[in-house]
Amino acid sequence: MKAARDLPGSGIRKIFNMASQKEKEGDKVFHLEIGRPHWEMPPGAIPGVISALESGLVHYIHNRGLIELREAISDFIKGRSGYSYDPEAELIVTCGASEAIAMIMLAFISSGDEVIVLEPAWPHYVSCIQMAGGTPVRVPREIANGYGLDREAVSSAITDRTKVIVINNPCNPAGAVYSAEELHDLAKIAQKHGLLVVSDEIYKDFVWGDQYSSMVEIMEDKDSLILVDGFSKSYAMTGWRIGYVAASPEVSDVLNRVHQYLTVCGVAFAQKGAVEVLRNPMLPAYNEEMRAAFRERYNVWCEALEDCPGVEFYRPGGAFYFFPKITLPGMDGHSFCMKMLKEYGLAMVPGDVFGVGYDRHVRIAYGGSLETQEEATQIFKKALREVSER
Ligand code: PMP
Repeated sequence: MKAARDLPGSGIRKIFNMASQKEKEGDKVFHLEIGRPHWEMPPGAIPGVISALESGLVHYIHNRGLIELREAISDFIKGRSGYSYDPEAELIVTCGASEAIAMIMLAFISSGDEVIVLEPAWPHYVSCIQMAGGTPVRVPREIANGYGLDREAVSSAITDRTKVIVINNPCNPAGAVYSAEELHDLAKIAQKHGLLVVSDEIYKDFVWGDQYSSMVEIMEDKDSLILVDGFSKSYAMTGWRIGYVAASPEVSDVLNRVHQYLTVCGVAFAQKGAVEVLRNPMLPAYNEEMRAAFRERYNVWCEALEDCPGVEFYRPGGAFYFFPKITLPGMDGHSFCMKMLKEYGLAMVPGDVFGVGYDRHVRIAYGGSLETQEEATQIFKKALREVSER
């Protein structure tokens, strides 16, 4: 109860609510604060749900989710990484990847246990660790080395209370993509200390270079790996609430005990639509088209940010976020974001929402349409010129 009372409200939602209020008052606002991909859903999704509803798939289903969906997810992971998870014993469909994170922490973290979080990070990890009574141990990453892995820092953060290390690849908010070498080193560190590795790969389809490795390919010891993924980002299906967790039968069994008390099971008809998404032969073409469109949005911002006074910029390798550092004198992430929203209608999130020591950073989410990014970058450049000349 106490842990819940101490949980902070979402810093992302706070800006979203302010931006929505401004819109209600008749002002134009560019939503660069929310991690929602603006795109069509894949073929198969809607007909799949409609036929599921018409055929009466509206009741409780298996705790772990529809077996057809677990089979489709298993084939999907195998197609990408070569490793085959058992749909009966190693997969659970969750209410979004968000539930998966909460479930993992509630299942494996007790009071006093420590969890390593590589910051900057999606704030959900820290809050779920705290909700479980654990202690987040924040390991910072620096813009100066592209938010890469600091092996020494990770190793020296580990104590005999450390149970889990969470990685997010590509990562929200920095957009950093870990190299295979970095992942190998992380796996080695985890193995040496007997830690569970949680790998949240929800942005795997948004990678701008040609190198990407899933932790499933890297970690041989599958007993120590929990893969978290979902449909929200890759398929623009944030409202469907479909995520999943893949883990060894022993780990998956423990997770399922928590899952059954959190939600019993996911939404039956939504899961049928998800089967039709994964089984649709047009899915690779859909992915390619979406990726190309998001790459264009990315390019628009890279060009703008490179050209801006008062911004220290790093070119992220993936996801759909930028996490630049604002170097304008006398201004931190909060005052910058307030100014951008109030005077220019640009909604962005202050960096300290994503970790300690990022109070001069801001997160820019470019999941909105290309036109939105084109307009927003023009305003952003103008704003930075004006603010830096004042
Ligand atoms: N992981 C990361 C890193 C995210 O940024 C998000 C959403 N912002 C999620 C997981 C959760 O996604 P969902 O619950 O919609 O599946």
